[in-house]
Amino acid sequence: MGILEVKNVGKRFGGLQALSDVNLSVKEGTVHAIIGPNGAGKSTLLNCLVGKLIPDTGSVSFEGQSVLGRKPHEINQMGISRVFQTPEIFGDLTVMENMMIPCLAKRDGAFSISAYGAMMDDREIVERAEHMLEDMRMIDKREMHASSMSRGDKRRLEIAMCLAQEPRLLLLDEPTAGMARADTNNTIDLLKEIKETRPITICIIEHDMHVVFSLSERITVLAQGTPLVEDTPDKIKGHPKVREAYLGE
Ligand code: ADP
Ligand code: MG
Repeated sequence: MGILEVKNVGKRFGGLQALSDVNLSVKEGTVHAIIGPNGAGKSTLLNCLVGKLIPDTGSVSFEGQSVLGRKPHEINQMGISRVFQTPEIFGDLTVMENMMIPCLAKRDGAFSISAYGAMMDDREIVERAEHMLEDMRMIDKREMHASSMSRGDKRRLEIAMCLAQEPRLLLLDEPTAGMARADTNNTIDLLKEIKETRPITICIIEHDMHVVFSLSERITVLAQGTPLVEDTPDKIKGHPKVREAYLGE
């Protein structure tokens, strides 16, 4: 059994069947990519995994426990973290302040304004955040305002903030969208490093085939809301159905 098991999931928006009969099993410790044309239902599927949407049919379980009916923050506490398409960082805060927030949330189990107000004097939180920034090679940027960083560095900070919560499953929705090649390559290197140094499973939705083939061990191709094929990158590359549905050949 996989760390994440999706069985017969369906989701309808009015007259549109966005997902139907989605089955997906993500093996622990792997990088699993979900690819497919625009509108295939990739983000909808991800939203069903993190409690932002509730599927009409089917089941979703993480480490054997159902996530259905749980709120996004509860699913987060179960060990699933998600990186959004646009970086979700606090632009007006410094890199260090941004980093302290998930450290605080992880330790206290919830975010409280009073803890936030006192966090600069909270030795334990300062140390955790510094350690995390060192780990992610961002310590030299600690006093920078997050908004003034490059797109690649914003993404790095956001991923670092997710990792501070020590997730066992990291979900990424098009993490390199809109990035220049250099930032994309940095993001690939960062994800490779994370995968090699941490006990984590990564599920990535990605448009850029260079990213997909650089990172993933399994690939699921979604087309019109249903998985078309699931295989290794080598098999996916030459698959006639994939070329037809996805590459437009
Ligand atoms: P992808 O991420 O693969 O590009 P999405 O999951 O965003 O695709 O969308 C799948 C389909 O569902 C699209 O046709 C999209 O327009 C539709 N859709 C997504 N979210 C909603 C929503 N909240 N309400 C109505 N339709 C939606
Ligand atoms: Mg999408």
